[in-house]
Amino acid sequence: MEKLFLFNTLSRQKEEFIPIEDGKAGMYCCGPTVYNFAHIGNLRAYFFEDILKRVLLYNGFKVKHVMNITDVGHLVSDDDEGEDKMEKGANREGKTVWEIAEFYTEAFKSDIAMLNIIPPTIYCKATDFIKEQVEMVKCLDNKGYTYSTNDGVYFDTQKFPEYGKLALLDIEGLEEGKRIAFSDEKKHKTDFALWKFSPKNQKRQMEWESPWGTGFPGWHIECSAMSIKFLGRHFDIHCGGVDHIPIHHTNEIAQAEACTGEKFVNYWLHGEFLIEEKGKMSKSAGEFLRLKTLVDKGYSPLDYRYFLLMTHYRKKIKFSFENLDAARNGFQNLKNKLKEIKGALKDAKEGLSDEATKYRTKFIDSINDDLNIGEGLAILWDVLKSELDANDKINLANEFDRILGLDLAKIEAEQAGDIPSEVIELANKRKEAKAAKDFKLADELRQQIKDKGYELLDKKGGEFDIKPL
Ligand code: AMP
Ligand code: ZN
Repeated sequence: MEKLFLFNTLSRQKEEFIPIEDGKAGMYCCGPTVYNFAHIGNLRAYFFEDILKRVLLYNGFKVKHVMNITDVGHLVSDDDEGEDKMEKGANREGKTVWEIAEFYTEAFKSDIAMLNIIPPTIYCKATDFIKEQVEMVKCLDNKGYTYSTNDGVYFDTQKFPEYGKLALLDIEGLEEGKRIAFSDEKKHKTDFALWKFSPKNQKRQMEWESPWGTGFPGWHIECSAMSIKFLGRHFDIHCGGVDHIPIHHTNEIAQAEACTGEKFVNYWLHGEFLIEEKGKMSKSAGEFLRLKTLVDKGYSPLDYRYFLLMTHYRKKIKFSFENLDAARNGFQNLKNKLKEIKGALKDAKEGLSDEATKYRTKFIDSINDDLNIGEGLAILWDVLKSELDANDKINLANEFDRILGLDLAKIEAEQAGDIPSEVIELANKRKEAKAAKDFKLADELRQQIKDKGYELLDKKGGEFDIKPL
């Protein structure tokens, strides 16, 4: 088996992936807070985790992938202040918390299915595992890591000397900032809620009894309690977006390791953000782009997947419709090329020639180098443009698609009577030339299309029809 290298946020280095148990990989991914639809930035996080999982599967690991659904306890601010996002969402929509949780969980599952993201082995809802969360708070309480305030039970981060090792946090700097940043009874800026009390004289829609009083769990405890429940006290991989490094994952490590006394997770992986030109994409800001917004504008979900594939998961992506258009064109060209190759295939056979195996090795080297899928995609293009025969090209494309997830096997062969893919490609290039106001090039391309026996008929919005002359 080839070696797989992953960038571990803990060491800030690429490390060889060595599983705890031979041939198996346990992976926990922080899932959605189901108070609203996922925006396309959130979906980038799940896409990155999908690539990681597919690469593990490709390398022969049996993957147990666990994802939580946060349906309680995530407050509007990461500092344990403000309303519960779920109760806020329910008030906004005039529904119960349980109803909105169910609705947005289904919406989330449908979004990830459209993006060809393989569903987790196990989904776990925070509200189904309150008992486990209370047990973990008890464990921390018994070991002296907690203190109570008027509004909840808190983890005392000063009692855990390694606190902040993931984020390389400057604890003293944070403490200096505390005068302005927070004013409640928390002892230290970095302390965080394990259990919050329901407000006095007010019944919350979601609340439970506990040894400390009626209330609900702090957001971070669900991930430590449920990951340990399904993957054990010490497991292989934990992931999420980069925003989780300084608070959520830092707190998860503290409470899990303080309770079990063992190392919690070996590899921490974090995906960079998708940003809009105007800045951070945020659900709480109201307006945001969903996958459905893209579909309504005429893009396919897989156009968006192709767009995401082009950038390494540790680099920011700037989202713009221009960039998405470029990705859609690239994907269309890829599909056309494959259609043409499939049209030229005489009799399909399995297996690869020696020359084709070299391309496969290059592809594996890329994906196993910290999931360099952009390079993998470029290698697929090299294959399709190479001198390899149609069989090799199709077999490699299908194999690479186990990672890419673009449904390449579903592309049908070009039939006699179809507009040839090279003509479609020329027409797409002409559309781009027109959009860039390069009319000289646009005319030349129209002529080339004519020379091949086809006529272009322009339609509104830059679209076109192609007809045989
Ligand atoms: P949430 O539903 O807000 O808890 O976020 C779900 C996941 O999306 C988390 O793993 C976040 O780190 C991630 N995330 C949030 N915003 C973005 C963004 N703009 N780009 C990429 N990932 C994001
Ligand atoms: Zn989490």
